[in-house]
Amino acid sequence: MTIARSESSWCKSCSRSQSVDQLLKLWDGHSYCTACVKLKSPRLLTHALSHSCLEDSVPFDQALVRRSELRSALKVAMISMLTFAITGHSLYGPLGIAIGTLLGLLLTAIVFAVQMPARMKVARMNRASLRLSEGWLIVTRPLSGLQVECVLHECRWYLGKIQHDSGLRGTGFYGAPAVVLILPRKHLLQLVRERVACGYEDESREVWLAFLTLAGIRKKWSWRDAWATKGVRNVSGTNGGTQ
Ligand SMILES: [Zn+2]
Repeated sequence: MTIARSESSWCKSCSRSQSVDQLLKLWDGHSYCTACVKLKSPRLLTHALSHSCLEDSVPFDQALVRRSELRSALKVAMISMLTFAITGHSLYGPLGIAIGTLLGLLLTAIVFAVQMPARMKVARMNRASLRLSEGWLIVTRPLSGLQVECVLHECRWYLGKIQHDSGLRGTGFYGAPAVVLILPRKHLLQLVRERVACGYEDESREVWLAFLTLAGIRKKWSWRDAWATKGVRNVSGTNGGTQ
């Protein structure tokens, strides 16, 4: 990120006139004095000085996804075994319980073994990549072919969890706190807005939170926010983002 030299001599945050050497152009295309940026988060200042654009993407943790898939398989197996055991008992008596239980377990194992590679591919290929520069946000998903370019100030955000990402629902990504960006509607008939997770690591989450609050991007209130931010410290030292 370069120090702004010409277009403005005032800080968007504190509105004070500053010498150009004290101004820093952030990824929303506006200039801020380094004092305001540092006050918000020293990590944001360090990151802004070394990155001309803000990029992020969810890392693919194969072990995490596999564990999550196995947990899902276990829940399905329990229901399947119980259903087959009840059916078996009604047909064959006590022996039918054992047969039904084994059959339910076997069928679940086969289904998940067949589906696992495809589900892993979805989890890996449907992660979003974000690139923010000059106030424009570009989001891409390789698997679905999604490519959205929108104005950052038309987005909203909240501190949620990684599974709130539109492309990661039902995949093995689960539980990790993340900043969730809500993209603007493409058209009036779009009922559900695209949600994209970013800032899944403590360092990048601090940068995103500090930047979004400093830039004045609208924050969405969410009841899930309270749960999602439990134990998550933001850049202001309190739970949840502030604006
Ligand atoms: Zn300032």
